[in-house]
Amino acid sequence: MNYITTRGDQTERHFCEILLEGLAPDGGLYLPTHYPKIDDATLTRWRGLSYAQLAFEILSMFIDDIPPADLKALVERTYTKATYGTDTIVPVRKLEDGLFIEALSNGPTLAFKDMAMQLLGQLFEYELARRGEELNILGATSGDTGSAAEYAMRGKKGVRVFMLSPHGRMSPFQQAQMFSLPDANIHNITVEGVFDDCQDIVKAVSNDLEFKRRHKIGTVNSINWARLLAQVVYYFAGYFQVTCANDQKVSFAVPSGNFGNVCAGHVARMMGLPIEQLVVATNENDVLDEFFRTGTYRVRASAETWETSSPSMDISKASNFERFVFDLLGRDGARVSALFGAGLARDGGFTLTADEHARIARFGFVSGKSTHADRLATIRDTWQRHQDMIDTHTADGLKVGREHMRPGTPMVVLETALPAKFAATIEEALGRAPTRPAALEGIESLPKRFVVMPVDAQRVKDYIDEHCRA
Ligand SMILES: *Cc1c(COP(=O)(O)O)cnc(C)c1O
Repeated sequence: MNYITTRGDQTERHFCEILLEGLAPDGGLYLPTHYPKIDDATLTRWRGLSYAQLAFEILSMFIDDIPPADLKALVERTYTKATYGTDTIVPVRKLEDGLFIEALSNGPTLAFKDMAMQLLGQLFEYELARRGEELNILGATSGDTGSAAEYAMRGKKGVRVFMLSPHGRMSPFQQAQMFSLPDANIHNITVEGVFDDCQDIVKAVSNDLEFKRRHKIGTVNSINWARLLAQVVYYFAGYFQVTCANDQKVSFAVPSGNFGNVCAGHVARMMGLPIEQLVVATNENDVLDEFFRTGTYRVRASAETWETSSPSMDISKASNFERFVFDLLGRDGARVSALFGAGLARDGGFTLTADEHARIARFGFVSGKSTHADRLATIRDTWQRHQDMIDTHTADGLKVGREHMRPGTPMVVLETALPAKFAATIEEALGRAPTRPAALEGIESLPKRFVVMPVDAQRVKDYIDEHCRA
């Protein structure tokens, strides 16, 4: 399998060539040249597989430059009971008739980003050793992504992580999670500013091309193809748990931000997994809901991006969304380039033609939106009626998923985080603190490792310089 970009560059690249990359050189995102099709016999055979075996089968269709025995070993090291708490890895539980929750958040940081990031850690270590290279990952986080990256890269050879976060602004639980890691290759830098200041520093450092090259600076952001690919697996695993035959269809409701998660569902559907609807759930930041309803994609300014109680979905533009639009527009790279390149820069968005908008239905996409009040009501209702405690993002997915249920088709809501991460809103909804996995009791009292810095890119560069030589 080879990869091309969404902006018309037809140069074909292998998986490992794009593994460590973010944007393609033409500014587009990487996608496979085509989607491998799964036939009925294959689907039947896959039903009996363990999660690691299933992941190996699916990844093998997209990766042809890692020897199968090596890929198998990487996958088996990633998806273990020790890391995810169960043999099933992503157990599905029934809430009521036709309505299910698929647990994707039982990894080390209690959010679904572990599903992909843990594999990325293994792939990075493998590929860097093969090349005899090192990589310094520089990122900014306000919570989920940074901790998932640190837990995936901790102790990995050839990789260092420099993670910036706004000083004193993450929840005590999130700070404890990140700052208590003892691994020498993990560096927490808290910046005396807000999240945007952290992001500006990352940009400033990355724009110093000489520094970037010299120190092999890279990222692990959500446009990385390998992350998306890893997420395809749990759509198959969820499907197998709620069906017993391949003529049954299933719908998935997906709490969405940067469109990485639901885009993986789109890939699974293109491969032939019998998915009826892909339900895109947003919070008050409804860029995506607006697009699916109206055909207009309008990027929000930061003053129009709200801080909500499902903070990992607080986005002003959806960085993976271009991949879906590429498929929607018949893989017309020139048109995608016009829309996302010049169009976005000039107009801050674009509008599809009526004909193009009408095509969305063929891809199974529908959408909806959930507010803080909806979130509280959904968390409360789920607790009172089912004694099931869900987090704020999952609540958005459940609220919108319910609105799109159709008789005879199971609706599977993806659980993207555990309630323990969002204690304040859980207490607001239920008047009690969320339950926490036993392994994380008392982490707030562990010793913390971090350095504090002013909003100053040069100081961050000096720090990286010093710790790359160590
Ligand atoms: C990242 C994240 C999301 C959004 O996922 P995307 O792939 O960006 O759409 C939703 N919920 C939680 C808890 C997250 O961490």
